[in-house]
Amino acid sequence: MLMSQLYSPTLRETPSEAEIISHKLMLRAGLMRRSAAGMYAFLPLGLRVIRKVEQIIREEMNAIEGQEVLLPIVQPAELWEESGRWGDYGDEMFRLKDRQGRQFCLGPTHEEIITALVRSEVRSYRQLPLRLYQIQNKYRDEMRPRFGLMRGREFIMKDMYSFDRDDEALDQSYWAAYHAYERIFQRCGVEAHPVEADSGAIGGDVTHEFMVLADSGEDLVLFCPSCGYAANAERAEGVPPAKVGGAPAMKALTKVHTPQASTIEQISAFLGVNPEDCIKTLLYLADGKPVAALIRGDHNLNEIKLRKTLECETLELADDDTILATTGAPVGFAGPVGLSIPLYADYAIQNMADAVVGANEGDHHLIHANLDRDFAVTLFADLRETEPGDPCPRCVGTLEGARGIEVGQVFKLGTKYSRAMGATFLDESGAEKPVIMGCYGIGVGRTVAAVIEKNHDQDGIIWPLAIAPYQVIIVPVSMKDEAQAQAARKLYQELKAAGVEVVLDDRDERPGVKFKDADLIGFPLRVTIGSRSLEQGEMEIVLRRTKEKRNVPISQVLPDIETILKDGESSWV
Ligand code: ATP
Ligand code: MG
Repeated sequence: MLMSQLYSPTLRETPSEAEIISHKLMLRAGLMRRSAAGMYAFLPLGLRVIRKVEQIIREEMNAIEGQEVLLPIVQPAELWEESGRWGDYGDEMFRLKDRQGRQFCLGPTHEEIITALVRSEVRSYRQLPLRLYQIQNKYRDEMRPRFGLMRGREFIMKDMYSFDRDDEALDQSYWAAYHAYERIFQRCGVEAHPVEADSGAIGGDVTHEFMVLADSGEDLVLFCPSCGYAANAERAEGVPPAKVGGAPAMKALTKVHTPQASTIEQISAFLGVNPEDCIKTLLYLADGKPVAALIRGDHNLNEIKLRKTLECETLELADDDTILATTGAPVGFAGPVGLSIPLYADYAIQNMADAVVGANEGDHHLIHANLDRDFAVTLFADLRETEPGDPCPRCVGTLEGARGIEVGQVFKLGTKYSRAMGATFLDESGAEKPVIMGCYGIGVGRTVAAVIEKNHDQDGIIWPLAIAPYQVIIVPVSMKDEAQAQAARKLYQELKAAGVEVVLDDRDERPGVKFKDADLIGFPLRVTIGSRSLEQGEMEIVLRRTKEKRNVPISQVLPDIETILKDGESSWV
């Protein structure tokens, strides 16, 4: 490719829409342009990177007997009604109607479509296992599209679905995908850590997310340096605290006037106590019925854990009217004493004595509230957000925290979709059983963005060799110098003939401008051709990653490049 022809408009200034480095660099390097919030057009260099990542994914999916398919983006509402998700999916789903008024959506994911496809064809255990995947655009009307490709509303995903006859076979599919993911991210040149995760709206219970650790990550990952336990913070298990010794202080329950003190910060400041001596009483509507969740004042409730504990379909914070009707007090003064709805308490409440709680009366709290004496709890459970510094649930270690970008996720779905949609098969004894499913996603664009988050410097992107848009750029210092221009064109032809992906910067620009663009776009290798070295029969090879440079005889340029492309930059010694 000739740089003069390449449609890669680079920018010197950072566009104001971009907050994180990968987003800035993808715009500045001319890889993509925004068309609407969370929607991007890929320009040639960007698309080349995307296609390379897709190809790596494709090879690894094929290696585990995955078969590529391409499913429709536009999906009929009826299928989502069968699975029960048409209602559940909410505002994230882009919905549309055809001219007859029939309802459709733009696929945010494809469990329904693939289950419908398989149920009409798979009859016998002999047809299993089956692993089908596609690489395609997904549509989610995200509440906060941001960070470029990280959280788009239209984005490319690889999604694989596995169909198996029993749990053991599902296990094999799951771990095959898990290990394929490890290879995919490694080949893309980025370290992605598998962590235990929550399954969210998709269903199922065993799931891992693959996390690239980076400060710009939207997830918090907790990990134990001692035993290697790693989990998304929203999933990380809490450990019931060891019982404190001795009898708790049991002072008399006393009502105190606490005007305008309705938050834990306000009440602890007002009474001169620590937040950990207060109990937060949060009212929820679980499947429409009020329940209370009790959390120590310095802790945060994890709604995912509460929902699991309650085994409810819907869970929402109670509105002001419900709070008033249930507690007799406005928001901020609810407490467990005398409350006649089910009380679910985090384990930490077990160890509290003489706590401060809301009095269920406006502008009043109770001090010296004690479990059993003053209130009873329906169930103790792990309800709070686990945090860095908390004990590891697997060993005696302490959890540490790091931000993570979720680039992929693998799920054991079980029979959620096959049961709801009637995807069954006949086993060896002729018995009809639901197929057992798994699903496995990778965000292609998000992976590219994560690679850039981990591979850049102040000058621009540093592409890993395997996914660079082009591997080499040839930069003649001056195209006006006939000797340089000729040598550059000759090398360009030689490299192309050898199958090297190469760009020749044939522009009539100052060398500084050309070097800046080469660094910004991030070609892993640069060959600089200047008159002095040319006179000595040499050209300069520069490694983008280390900025290491060396003059090599012209005849050695191609072999050196081939060695580096084959064995990596570190082989160039
Ligand atoms: P998140 O929690 O980040 O919203 P998710 O868990 O809903 O993502 P999945 O349904 O597991 O996403 O989708 C599989 C993969 O698709 C994710 O691991 C991620 O890499 C990618 N992905 C999901 N949502 C987006 C998005 N809005 N923009 C870009 N990539 C996305
Ligand atoms: Mg996910």
